[in-house]
Amino acid sequence: MDFGYHKLYINGELTEAAAGEKFTVVCPGTEESVADIAWASSADAEYALKSAQRGFELWSALSLKERTEWMHKLRAAVIEKQQLLRESIMYEMGKTWEGTEEDYETVINALQWYPEEMKRTRDQALPDEDNTFSHQLVSQPAGVVVAYLAWNFPLLNLGFKLGPALAAGCSLIIKPSPVSPLSAYLIGEICYEIGLPPGVVNILCGPDAEIGSNLSGSKIPRVITMIGSSATGRRVIADSATSIKKISMELGGNAPAMVFEDADLDQAVQEIAALKFGNTGQVCVSPNRIFIHKTIFNEFEEKFLEKARAVRVGFGKADKPTMGPLVNSQARERIQEMVADALEKGAEIICGGKIPDGQTRGYFYEPTVIKNVTAEMRIVKEEVFGPIATLIPFEGGEEIVEQANDTEHGLAAYLYTRDVNRIRYITEKLQFGDIMVNGFKYAIYLPHGGIKESGVGKDCSHLALDDYLVVKRITIKH
Ligand code: NAD
Repeated sequence: MDFGYHKLYINGELTEAAAGEKFTVVCPGTEESVADIAWASSADAEYALKSAQRGFELWSALSLKERTEWMHKLRAAVIEKQQLLRESIMYEMGKTWEGTEEDYETVINALQWYPEEMKRTRDQALPDEDNTFSHQLVSQPAGVVVAYLAWNFPLLNLGFKLGPALAAGCSLIIKPSPVSPLSAYLIGEICYEIGLPPGVVNILCGPDAEIGSNLSGSKIPRVITMIGSSATGRRVIADSATSIKKISMELGGNAPAMVFEDADLDQAVQEIAALKFGNTGQVCVSPNRIFIHKTIFNEFEEKFLEKARAVRVGFGKADKPTMGPLVNSQARERIQEMVADALEKGAEIICGGKIPDGQTRGYFYEPTVIKNVTAEMRIVKEEVFGPIATLIPFEGGEEIVEQANDTEHGLAAYLYTRDVNRIRYITEKLQFGDIMVNGFKYAIYLPHGGIKESGVGKDCSHLALDDYLVVKRITIKH
């Protein structure tokens, strides 16, 4: 597959990079190049900042009705390119064909849902205790937004930022990850084709540290938002501190799943396996540490192994794989090192644990299940971001919540039990932003975001709009 060459989208135009550099996108399923993109440098970042500043003036002056019309026009054009966009994600990231649907749908849902949500009034009158003043809270667009995106859901992550920022009246500079920039560049082309006012959306990718320090360090952006690892989040916050900006960060996770003896075992196994091996485990909310009550451990293990063995690893539409490759050789080497570390410290692999036999091309790794793990192992301490499930037996009851909380991260947690008192106690104690009990659901209208080192601010829902708005109090004496 060859997707050809794609330019930066800045100031309403498709442009070459100032230094004329290009970057090749490689497919993790075949290790073949599938596209070239214009590779931005500082000069392009500066140009994008000025463009977004002018874009903000244009966009924030439009009425919500006019912004909504543009967003619907963009949505219709994205729908027309559904096939191309989904294929670009499949080839740049190695996702299964079915897996690309969620990415595409998030963009079209965000472009529909956020203008609707903006119509619900956010402005508010406050009472005055002496009746001598009237007080009004008024929300306004915050300004230019810089959005750094993780590669694992290239268009879902883009939709999470594009929808609320545009609806709020902000302009954006979107910097996709160099690992999966192609689909974002295609969105730039679609914005160009529909003639979106210049500077409202700008899309460029280039060397992280160079582009990052230019964009984050500039005083033009009023909002810095990111989806990525906690380490990059800390770096971006530090780079941004040249001026006071709004910060919204969706960062790494180390999700616990807790399965009690009274859980619906089949449901727990099915859902935890789906979350673990979906997107090859490269999901921020994927369960990392699976705590299973000792009395049901063997049964859980047996059923979970069945699920792991049923996963079909591969790439492309024809073979209908249920799990694709890891995103690149570094990601696979990291997983191999983590598994080696666990083995050295006494863990036991009960399924997988290697590159599939006969696989010579593509960054594939078998769905892997490990037990006898301890808190000292990297596989328990760090975010795994791969198809490795660690099964950890526990005795006793609610105290397991302390182990679940024993991580710097606080993104997602899963609990399976029928005991209402236990649910109340554990959900109160858990230090995570997304807590799912006896089932899970993620959607554009439901807030998603972490606490602790997993971030600040929210993606999705009405709460995401707050990240792109500033609130003024207007007090008038009668
Ligand atoms: P990453 O931190 O390496 O990169 C994230 C983005 O930041 C990329 O666009 C990258 O190019 C950019 N970046 C890197 N260094 C930068 C710098 N100095 N200045 C500016 N930008 C910079 O993360 P990744 O490998 O792309 O994604 C995986 C991580 O993302 C995992 O930790 C995962 O948990 C997290 N993630 C979190 C969520 C969430 O909602 N909380 C969702 C998806 C992924």
